[in-house]
Amino acid sequence: MQWDIVIGLEIHVQLATRTKIFSGSSTAYGAEPNTQANAVDLAMPGTLPVPNEQAFRYAVMFGLAVNAEIERRSVFERKNYFYPDLPKGYQTTQLERPIVGPGYVDIDLANGETKRVRIHHAHLEEDAGKSLHEDFHGMTGIDLNRAGTPLIEVVTEPDMTNAEEAVAFAKKLHGIVTSLGICDGDMSQGSMRFDVNISLKPKGSETLGTRTETKNLNSFRFMEQAIAHEVERQMDILEDGGTIVQETRLYNGDRDESRSMRTKEEANDYRYFPCPDLLPVEINDAFIDEARNSLPELPDARKARFMEQFGLNDYDAGLLAADSKLAAFFEAVA
Ligand code: ADP
Ligand code: MG
Repeated sequence: MQWDIVIGLEIHVQLATRTKIFSGSSTAYGAEPNTQANAVDLAMPGTLPVPNEQAFRYAVMFGLAVNAEIERRSVFERKNYFYPDLPKGYQTTQLERPIVGPGYVDIDLANGETKRVRIHHAHLEEDAGKSLHEDFHGMTGIDLNRAGTPLIEVVTEPDMTNAEEAVAFAKKLHGIVTSLGICDGDMSQGSMRFDVNISLKPKGSETLGTRTETKNLNSFRFMEQAIAHEVERQMDILEDGGTIVQETRLYNGDRDESRSMRTKEEANDYRYFPCPDLLPVEINDAFIDEARNSLPELPDARKARFMEQFGLNDYDAGLLAADSKLAAFFEAVA
């Protein structure tokens, strides 16, 4: 049987603010464990979160860069769950009223075509801490330095149909956020993490199949491998007459293996409710105009300029313009 592959991505982008989204703790990477989480990050009773204006500015810049509507009023909600790296018992996030509404990104494919990938929305939220397994035998270490680091989570529509498109989108997004300067783009340190939703459907069918979500891929190569791996796994199951279980999976790139992490949870499992400690945030036109005026040159514009100014072909210009550091290096050399 012939299958169509359907892929949608959820991308966590750590914002390059100096301090956390609701507290004054440093977001710098690599400090001694648990030296950069304060009482607010741990939601100690009696503390109150204070929103970081720069995180909003960065989210608005992102929205403008992906042709999205900026929502004038956004609301923080508590997503309740307990996990050792989230001792406060909830993540402060956005659900019904995210700051960035629908938008899109155009990606270039190897066959010379351009494809539009729609963005469903992007919301602001806080990162959790980290569980450390490697240095602790039979135990888990908890480092809460990352707790409260600002993130935008970008959610695409299920518009991609193969690994090439998904990776092209991921690289494009990386180019956009690093060009904007809102994220350092260091994937090895977890600054950008990709969750890949994948389903199969009989070729030509209009109905989407059941999807799985493979979480926390932190390199383009692992993303490509994880997609190939999951497509094959699902195809084997479906061709044997089985059904796909909607679940969250983890992929081990070093071993090319995946395993189920948990079956799919629904929004109502989290008992979301508007955070009583944070008022809705209203953004005015002046704030948005200021963000718009501060937008630097983005990869698409840079690519067009490289073709024009240096006579580069489409492929070369696209490659050099995609990465802001590479682009700056190229220009300096040229
Ligand atoms: P959730 O259930 O996590 O609230 P959504 O249903 O909105 O989320 O989808 C989350 C992600 O999964 C989005 O990126 C979306 O594009 C993708 N997605 C949804 N349905 C499918 C599907 N059948 N196959 C592949 N990806 C899908
Ligand atoms: Mg989700």
